[in-house]
Amino acid sequence: MTMSLNDYQRLLRGKRCVICNRILPQKIEFYDHEYGWTVEGFSVKQWLYITCPCGYQNALWKLGVPRESNPPQAVNRLEAFSSVTKIFPTTPEAAANPDPIRLEKNFKPSPI
Ligand SMILES: [Zn+2]
Repeated sequence: MTMSLNDYQRLLRGKRCVICNRILPQKIEFYDHEYGWTVEGFSVKQWLYITCPCGYQNALWKLGVPRESNPPQAVNRLEAFSSVTKIFPTTPEAAANPDPIRLEKNFKPSPI
């Protein structure tokens, strides 16, 4: 059976912020995320977290609610790659080349 947001919320009653140890508010926030949790009523997995009054976003896995699967290693590399492309803006040709090292070498600042 798929868990609804209310079911998750019930699991989290009385949980404390991992940073400041305050009892967390009963309000789960969420957004689409491939490696998040399956939630009833959503067509894609959701990243679930509770924002503490201290400002820290407590992801549910930090509060002891496991996901069905952890992201595979390849995803971490993909994330590393996308952060590289953010740091080094690329030409269309370089963007078509999925090798971050090459992107870096090919990068030339555009003339102003
Ligand atoms: Zn806190």
